[in-house]
This record gives sequence, C-alpha cells and structure tokens, in this order.
Amino acid sequence: MSRRPKSKAFQAPKGMNDVLPGVQKYWGKFFKVSKELAVYYGFDVIETPILEYADLFKKGMGLNTDVIEHEMYTLKTKGGDFLALRPELTAGAVRAYLENGFANQPQPIKFFHYGPVFRHESPQAGRYREFHQADFDVFGEEDAILDAQVIQLIYSILIELGLKNLSIQINSIGDKNCWPKFREELKMYYRSKVPKLCKNCKVRFKENPLRMLDCKEEECAALKAAAPNSVDYLDKACHDHFKLVLEFLDELGLPYNLNPYLVRGLDYYTRTVFEIVSENTAGSQTALAAGGRYDYLVSQLGGKSTPAMGGSLGIERVIIEMQRQEVKISLTKPKTRVFLVQLGDLAKKKSLKIFEEFRKNGIYVSESFGRDSIKAQLRVADRLGADLALIIGQKESLDGTAILREMQSGVQETIPWKKIIDEVRKRLKKIAPRAPQLTNNNE
Ligand SMILES: [Zn+2]
Ligand SMILES: [Zn+2]
Repeated sequence: MSRRPKSKAFQAPKGMNDVLPGVQKYWGKFFKVSKELAVYYGFDVIETPILEYADLFKKGMGLNTDVIEHEMYTLKTKGGDFLALRPELTAGAVRAYLENGFANQPQPIKFFHYGPVFRHESPQAGRYREFHQADFDVFGEEDAILDAQVIQLIYSILIELGLKNLSIQINSIGDKNCWPKFREELKMYYRSKVPKLCKNCKVRFKENPLRMLDCKEEECAALKAAAPNSVDYLDKACHDHFKLVLEFLDELGLPYNLNPYLVRGLDYYTRTVFEIVSENTAGSQTALAAGGRYDYLVSQLGGKSTPAMGGSLGIERVIIEMQRQEVKISLTKPKTRVFLVQLGDLAKKKSLKIFEEFRKNGIYVSESFGRDSIKAQLRVADRLGADLALIIGQKESLDGTAILREMQSGVQETIPWKKIIDEVRKRLKKIAPRAPQLTNNNE
C-alpha cells in the first residue's frame, strides 16, 4: 500500500474505488462477452443518466425498502429539483422506455445497459458504495419463455467468462392475486415471534411481511426455516407460469434450486425471482446476478399495464470471482515485436511520425520516447521481447534511413525509409517471436 495523504480531499470517497490498469483485462472481457451475448439475444444497448428524480426510485422501489430508506444518495439542485444517484438501473430503463415512446412499438422491447450505481451502505468485501451493474430488461411480454431466456442469457455470460460452480436459485412470489393470502399466513406465523425479530423486521411485519424472508440478521434468518413458502400460495395462473419457467430451465439443462426464501430486496418484483450464485469450496455462496419479473413497475411509473422481466449482474463481484477462480485471460495488448529507438533531437522529431506510420500499416510498435540513451532504450526493447529494433540517430535522420537491428543476433542493416515498412513486414514473417524477458505486472 502506498502512503496516503492526510487530507480527505486526496482520497477516493469511502466505498468508492479506482479501477486500475491491473484489472482492466477483466473489465474488458466482461463488457466484450456481455455485449456480444446481449446483442445475440436481441437486446438493444441504451444508456440512461446517472442522476434521476428521486421520486422515480421512490415510486419504483417502494418506500420501505432499505435502499430507499437508508441508502440513496440524494441532492437538491440549485433549481430546487430533488435528484438521486441511481441505486439500480431498472427504474431508469422503465423511465426511458416510457419517455421515448417504446411502449408504442412492437413488443417485446429488450434493453441492455450498464454503468455505475450508488448505495450508501457499509462497505465490505464485494459490496461498495459505488459499484457497477450490467442490466437486462424485457418489456411487454408475459410469456414464461422470456423469464427463462433472461436467466439463460445471464447464466451463459458467466459461463463464457470462464466461471465454474454456478447455480441458479429460483422462486415465485406470485402476484397481487396471491399476496393477500400469503401475507396473512406469514403474519400468522410471525405474530408470536415479533419480539424476537430485528428492528427492521418489526416494521416489515406491519408494512411488508414478505421482506422478512429476505432479512440477513441472524435472529430473523433462524425463524425463516419454518415460515410458509410463497409457492404454496400461488393461484393457478402464477403456478402454471412458474411451472413453465422451470420446464424451460429443465429443457436447457440449467442447474437450478428452488429457494422458497428468495424474495429479493426490492418491492417491485412479481412471480419469478432468481439469483445466480457461485458455490465456494467452503460451502458459502456469492450472489453474482439477480433479477425477476416486475409486471407492475411500468404502470407504477405512469405507463399502461406492461409485463416485464429482467436481471442484472454485479460487475465487481463477477470480477472478484473471476480472480478467485483464476480465470485466464489472454492479453489485450499485442506483444511488442518492433521497438523504435531514437537518438538526438532531429530523430526525436521524426519518431512520432514514423510511429504513427507503422500503426496505419497495422504493425504494432513500442517506444520509450522519454529516454535519450540508446542503451536504455534497447534494454526496454529487450525486456518487452522485441524481435526488431528500428534505430534512428542524427545521421539516419539526415540521410532518410533507419538502422534495422535483429535483437536476437545483433545483426543490423541500414534501410531507406521508403522501404522500411515492407522490410519490417518481411523480417517479422521470417523471425520467430521471442518471449518478453519480464512481464509487465500491469498486464
Ligand atoms: Zn430482520
Ligand atoms: Zn397470481
């Protein structure tokens, strides 16, 4: 760890992180794979603002959720608007769907988006105040095949990223028609246990009993085991829908477990809810992705009644898991085969142009322009495993030539600039690439 300056102004805010060059290969891979699959599955990419009116999230996510009550970053603008840093991506997607007339186009509409989201909670491993999600939303289709497709897509992304030991946790929480009966049963079960519940669940007992099943506090988790299951209180339509979702997953051969306590932390879910978790050797689980159906959200946010299904991946968690499982990623940078060495002011001036000339011709060239000694530059070339060095000094600059040196043998030859690209190309074909002498730890 480097020494940190005392002033807070020179530190990243608590729970917010720099994404450093050392992990960019994972981020790059994540975006490449998720975008490729999203497009294949018929999703269109959208981007929405990081700030939205705070009311959008309050109306969408429910007033009694932890996110709205405690975790939303809000601000009042100079104009008096009350805005919030988005705590998730779905509400913004719904707003964009309605505001831009997608509701009037042939359905379903499928959106893929990703970006930072913000929650003011206690930072811990894999849980930050600024984190990133990739989100998939399907609007305007009730059919269970879309539930299965969203799960299949997100599961496939994780597999394509090289992850193993994944499993799908799935449940159905029913809809408005099923909830009154289930709520009653839950309340009946919990009534005598209220004194044992955590502070939050005492409130949930009155206002949103379903969410007691989602509580992570020890005292409440223990009480869940004998609590009634939502699947036992589904009406026929919800039961048939869930049965179909599971049949699709069976047909796909996806590994799923019915998890009767999965209710999700947000109020807007209906019917199918799921999580995709990675099973650690120690038996613990990390949730990498989650989602479900949200058939009432569009109408809650001012649209006409529109069924919808979605899910999102927690990008930091996925990347931590890729590192933990030691997923191999090939370098995004091509290996250096040609190194440009310059000596003297005149050569220095020419070198930027020559460097760009090689790029235009599709030849990857490295340099160390800040260094003036030829020895130091050749040392870098050697470390990178360059096969050829192109040396331009004062004399070569005046003559319009360059010295082409084969690094392995040390054999060198003076070549006119006009022929240099062709000559380099020819030699690269002839010489077998060397391995870099030292790997750059940023790669
Ligand atoms: Zn609780
Ligand atoms: Zn129902």
